[in-house]
Amino acid sequence: MSKVMIIGAGGVGGVVAHKCAQLSEVFTEIVLASRTESKCQAIAAQLSRPIHTAQVDADDVPALVKLLRREEPKLVINVALPYQDLTIMDACLETGVHYLDTANYEPIDTAQFEYRWQWDYQQRFVDAGLTALLGSGFDPGATNVFTAYIAKHYLDEIHELDIIDINGGDHGYPFATNFNPEINIREVSAACRHWENGEFVTTAAMTKKARYSCPEGVGTFNIYRMYHEELESLSTHFPSLIRAQFWMSFSDNYLKHLEVLENVGLTSISPVDFQGQSIVPIQFLAQLLPEPSALGGLTKGKTCIGCIVRGVKNGKEKVMYIYNISDHQRCYEEVQSQAISYTTGVPAAIGAKMILEGKWRKPGVWNIEQCDPDPFMCDMNRYGLPWKVVELDPSFQLDIVGK
Ligand code: NDP
Repeated sequence: MSKVMIIGAGGVGGVVAHKCAQLSEVFTEIVLASRTESKCQAIAAQLSRPIHTAQVDADDVPALVKLLRREEPKLVINVALPYQDLTIMDACLETGVHYLDTANYEPIDTAQFEYRWQWDYQQRFVDAGLTALLGSGFDPGATNVFTAYIAKHYLDEIHELDIIDINGGDHGYPFATNFNPEINIREVSAACRHWENGEFVTTAAMTKKARYSCPEGVGTFNIYRMYHEELESLSTHFPSLIRAQFWMSFSDNYLKHLEVLENVGLTSISPVDFQGQSIVPIQFLAQLLPEPSALGGLTKGKTCIGCIVRGVKNGKEKVMYIYNISDHQRCYEEVQSQAISYTTGVPAAIGAKMILEGKWRKPGVWNIEQCDPDPFMCDMNRYGLPWKVVELDPSFQLDIVGK
């Protein structure tokens, strides 16, 4: 009997609930808890079997502890916001519950993506005999597992990694984000950092651009180098990496809107006084934008997310490309959600399955690439995220635009 508690009833939480409900032999009971219980109930009404719902403020450790003691799940899947990671980890430690998330902790008043706050919990999870699995979404998540899989099966040593995240979908809105708007805009507007020769090199946001043609006719897109949290854990766990970069596609339209919003101060995270009330501009902006869970039925097109890994095998240079392509509309047909939430929620459910089945259950705090990639990769093929691996010519280089 494995009862799971999902915290967060947004775009990703909906997908996790659907997938856990489908896997009834693993997740025998499900509780979906969030700040707004009506959103949990709306998701519950879509599912093929009954689940419990609950209201909780995940910033409040005593409230979380009370709920966990009442429900007694084996594992919490945290798909609320990164601000809640530490409070949920504290509550899991207090109640003896395993933990999993999809995004690293960020303090609400500083856009600073670092694992150190969560890595600091290592000894406490070891002492409690509990597993905390960090970053079990797509990126971070599947992309880390892809890297570990290539390192395990195709190369003796990995030297260069380019993670390429393409969303070729269109939702028809002039400007909307595919996951939580506040987190998305904080991430995209942060300075770029990439790993090179043993250190992180900082450059201005969105200044390095390339053209990338996806396989299987998904299309050709402008991709921009940016910082993404898995660069920190992957450069730590694969010390042979000489360079690691993360690239994401953005349309000209998205970038134009973002530039204007930044220029007028609407992406700022510093509170301002508005008619006697203190408001945070980015939170106000997020309130105006469509919720990611509302984009499901509108989004058409495909995502193509994967890793190009260069290294050596038997003394020869080798370049491997491993990727998944997901169709927004097929995802919607299955779980009433677009592919960004789908590609995040499915790896969260698979990571939870790995822990509950004992395949990845080991005391401590782990980034997903520290676990054996094989059972996870097998389940990606079984549960909706099929992947392919192809060998590229060693002369392959990204088509950089400009200098
Ligand atoms: P949404 O904004 O759609 O959903 C977030 C949910 O969390 C909402 O239901 C919200 O409640 C709830 N929530 C927020 N604060 C609290 C709180 N204090 N207590 C309880 N519940 C709370 O976001 P997404 O579903 O798009 O994203 C969820 C997470 O997934 C984020 O951390 C995001 O960074 C991560 N993510 C990871 C990706 C990956 O590939 N690794 C990709 C995409 C997202 P309410 O409805 O009341 O606001």
